Amino acid sequence: MRKAQDIWIDAKAARLGYADGAAFAEAFGLKPYRIGQLYHAAMRELHGDPSTVTTLSAQTREALVGAGLQFDSVAPVVVERSSDKQTSKGLFRLHDGKEVEAVLMEHNKDRNTVCISSQAGCAFACAFCSTGQAGYSRNLTADEIVDQARYFARELRAKGEKITNIVFMGMGEPFHNYDAVMEAVALLNDPKGFGLGHRHITISTVGLVEKIDQFADEGIQVNLAISLHAPNDAVRSQFMPVSKKYSTGQLLAACERYTARTRRKVFFEYIMLADVNDSDECAIALAAKMRGHLYHVNLIPYNSTPDAAFTGSSDARIWAFAKILEEANVPTTVRYNMGRDIAAACGQLRAQTQPKAQNATS
Ligand code: SAH
Repeated sequence: MRKAQDIWIDAKAARLGYADGAAFAEAFGLKPYRIGQLYHAAMRELHGDPSTVTTLSAQTREALVGAGLQFDSVAPVVVERSSDKQTSKGLFRLHDGKEVEAVLMEHNKDRNTVCISSQAGCAFACAFCSTGQAGYSRNLTADEIVDQARYFARELRAKGEKITNIVFMGMGEPFHNYDAVMEAVALLNDPKGFGLGHRHITISTVGLVEKIDQFADEGIQVNLAISLHAPNDAVRSQFMPVSKKYSTGQLLAACERYTARTRRKVFFEYIMLADVNDSDECAIALAAKMRGHLYHVNLIPYNSTPDAAFTGSSDARIWAFAKILEEANVPTTVRYNMGRDIAAACGQLRAQTQPKAQNATS
């Protein structure tokens, strides 16, 4: 894995048309410690561009600004705040006009969680998901992923607060953009830069088996969440096309290898869809597969989307489902639903502003 600072400067140099950070430094006659100052200014002090970085000479600042160097690779288009002011959802434009979403959830001054996107669109076409229905556009670069978090970190800093957790649960499939996501994790974690501990980062995947194995080998303490949503193939294949590539059995076997190798817990997300995956039979079948492992189930109330033909389970059904899991000694939580009034589910804000992209073929 490359050093975080090198990942960052290479990304910024590429945007300006230089082969890499070294070519960029040479073009501006910048010594290595100057690159360190730029990196610190962007990733630690959260400056948006070099014009305000007073550790640089006025002349250098002018040259860099003149060349078009920006620290922010994403620009906010709309930021909506929920009526309870606890959730802010941002739609961000990338340099090529593509748009992605990120969400800040402020949990009563105790946790500030940011949910970020790893791709513009998504290739996996889960039937209940707005992003999945709109198709895949492209991978994000590491800095485009990180800059969604930098945006909200800056907002929080103005109030004397910080991001405490980052989850890769926005648009896209993080393990379908594995290398950039790992680079983004390195950037977010770097103690000399953004400085967020690995344990405060969670990657959520639709369940790409080879990548789960690769991730287990990284030797980092980043949390793994799996969008399981069903106890078996018969149910999962009704709304998750990925189940044709990896069976539920193969997926759970990879999760077992992961816990054996890392001794870390796996979090399973289970979105509650009325009359699709929320029966007592489903709960009993799920409990049988979850119990006795280092697993945790998180039941997610469905955020209805305009383009999907699902209804969320009633609260009573969700709690009944949770009770079956708890009685089988499966650690279970029900996700508190934030930001419903601002369409905070994956892909919903973009779906309101953009036409559908091409459907994915991968
Ligand atoms: N591709 C990754 C991460 C993006 S989705 C993954 O599949 O995990 C992040 C989480 O949001 C997933 O668990 C996904 O199933 C869930 N999700 C998507 N649309 C939703 C909706 N309308 N309501 C509730 N959860 C949703």
